[in-house]
Amino acid sequence: MSTVWLVRDGTGGVCWCNCMDPIASLPNPAGCPWCGCGWLIGCARCRKCFTFARAVERKESAEEIVRLDLMGLNEGGPSEGKEPSKLLMSNTVAYFRSISSRLKVGLVYVHLDTKIIPVDVKYDSVSINGERRRHTFSELPHKIIARNKGSDFGALGDNDYWLGRKGYYAPKERQ
Ligand SMILES: [Zn+2]
Ligand SMILES: [Zn+2]
Repeated sequence: MSTVWLVRDGTGGVCWCNCMDPIASLPNPAGCPWCGCGWLIGCARCRKCFTFARAVERKESAEEIVRLDLMGLNEGGPSEGKEPSKLLMSNTVAYFRSISSRLKVGLVYVHLDTKIIPVDVKYDSVSINGERRRHTFSELPHKIIARNKGSDFGALGDNDYWLGRKGYYAPKERQ
């Protein structure tokens, strides 16, 4: 049985992952979303980030992908090499399935504030109720960041924005 999941799609926007088989990790509501963990996708193999991911059919089971991700999370820490507990596995597999079941094979997605959003959809405006705050854009900022080749992240790279101390401002287009 195959599993629908996300793999890196090209190197547009911000891309620090250079893996041969870059497979996405689960969105993680970490404490520092502005560093990229709130709006980029982590690679389950190298733990580095990328911007765009495509939904594909993988031969691994949901459990195998989740295990790869959880084992990678512990790398370099005190739990390195330890198998995840049964409870953590079943909770994380449920979380995985909640995302996987909404993916359409072939579509490209970005991550914002724990939501996985298709990019190839024509939006008049984008409004996302994330883990941290509500985001309202005229265009997905990831697309602007890809066009400006990562020269400006706008609100997404600003801790004041994520902490609710500032409203939305778009990344700047390259001059
Ligand atoms: Zn972070
Ligand atoms: Zn990687």
